[in-house]
Amino acid sequence: MSYVNDVLERTATRYNYQPEFCQALTEVLHSIAPAVESNPQYEKAALLERLVAPEKATVFRVPWVDDNGKVQVNRGYRVQFNSAIGPYKGGLRFHPSVNMSIIKFLGFEQIFKNSLTGLPIGGGKGGADFDPKGKSDNEVMRFCQGFMTELYKVIGPNSDVPAGDIGVGGREIGYLFGQYKKITGRHEGVLTGKGLSYGGSLARTEATGYGLVYLTEEMLRQHGNSLEGKTVAVSGSGNVAIYAIEKAQKLGAKVVTASDSSGYVYDAEGIDLEILKKVKEQERARISKYAEYKPTATFVPGKRVWEVPCTVALPCATQNELNLEDAKTLVKNGCIAVAEGANMPSTIEATDYFLANKVLFAPGKAANAGGVATSALEMSQNSARIVWTFEQVDEKLKDIMENIYYHMSTAAETYHQKDNFVVGANIAGFLKVADAMMAQGIV
Ligand code: NDP
Repeated sequence: MSYVNDVLERTATRYNYQPEFCQALTEVLHSIAPAVESNPQYEKAALLERLVAPEKATVFRVPWVDDNGKVQVNRGYRVQFNSAIGPYKGGLRFHPSVNMSIIKFLGFEQIFKNSLTGLPIGGGKGGADFDPKGKSDNEVMRFCQGFMTELYKVIGPNSDVPAGDIGVGGREIGYLFGQYKKITGRHEGVLTGKGLSYGGSLARTEATGYGLVYLTEEMLRQHGNSLEGKTVAVSGSGNVAIYAIEKAQKLGAKVVTASDSSGYVYDAEGIDLEILKKVKEQERARISKYAEYKPTATFVPGKRVWEVPCTVALPCATQNELNLEDAKTLVKNGCIAVAEGANMPSTIEATDYFLANKVLFAPGKAANAGGVATSALEMSQNSARIVWTFEQVDEKLKDIMENIYYHMSTAAETYHQKDNFVVGANIAGFLKVADAMMAQGIV
């Protein structure tokens, strides 16, 4: 049995109760196999065995008091996966589905994503099974304070710098930062995604969505095409989705959908961003409210956006939100490109179907890396105590995304898999981390 398959089989057997982690492991290890095989020194150094095991994983209890005076208890996580190329970096997710499998899958993917950005950041991820939905501001604040009261023990501006993810936006980052500062007495760049008045970076809020669209445009451009005039389906209506819609519209595309876990809205006139932001960012309401404000839109409950005909699809909600059936429908309807704003939104079967049908497919670890890349730019500004303008950050973000495209497409070609960006992104991300691990000895 090959070295890759041996490590995959042993790890997947051991962690068969962590399905999302095993899914990410399978996808990554299969695609880096050619790069591992051409570097036999990795096996002697047990490089893969070390790569698939987090350097450290912390699980903790988070008790907090709700508005009725009742004590609630949630579970918090921080997985510090790999620090070979820089301090651990990766978001915090607050969602009832959060468990060790989900945090490990996200942390593992983060290693390669962060490497691909070309910036010195290692991979980590964290979160809690706390659901901010329906909670008052005060409840969210008390939860964040309880969460940070444990988390602060394992993070720091030069060791581990968390950020936001699902359920953790500007409000949560503010409460988390306030508690960190209160406990430690230090105002330092320990979190990214901070508000502009206390160390945040301009363009961080927009970065993941904008970056996704920059990479999509570059991928299309390299294939003699562009977003201009294209019909685009976007899923989700959170941070990533909203700014992906904004940038796609600026580049001349017509985005006709947005969704949340209750269903989707279809707007043949194109999504009205002002209304979407009002519903989602201000009212924190369900997506059906959009159709109440906008008579040309229809709300389709309980369904996914992929049944709507489109030329470009941007999944921006959550993992495994696009399965084989959805992929078949998209291809049948003439979809030519899919770029993942979310982490692992396409199942392995859906991804394989896109690749087999020559759909240009940009995997999340490349396509949504703009968020973490801009977080690293926030770290740089914090360390140097300077502030870049929106245009400066946006320009760097665009450069980074175009570079990511270049590196993943070059790696795909080098390993004789032209336009297979899954293989390209994984190999390009992996080789840099592997090189750093080999250089640093057995640690
Ligand atoms: P938000 O919490 O802002 O938004 C998440 C969106 O996805 C909401 O519209 C939510 O709807 C929807 N959603 C969540 N679960 C489901 C589900 N099971 N079915 C349908 N819709 C669902 O998160 P973000 O926009 O920040 O993150 C979206 C994705 O992008 C995640 O995979 C995240 O890991 C990834 N990502 C985010 C980055 C960032 O900078 N924020 C960076 C890189 C990746 P509802 O409100 O109903 O739950």
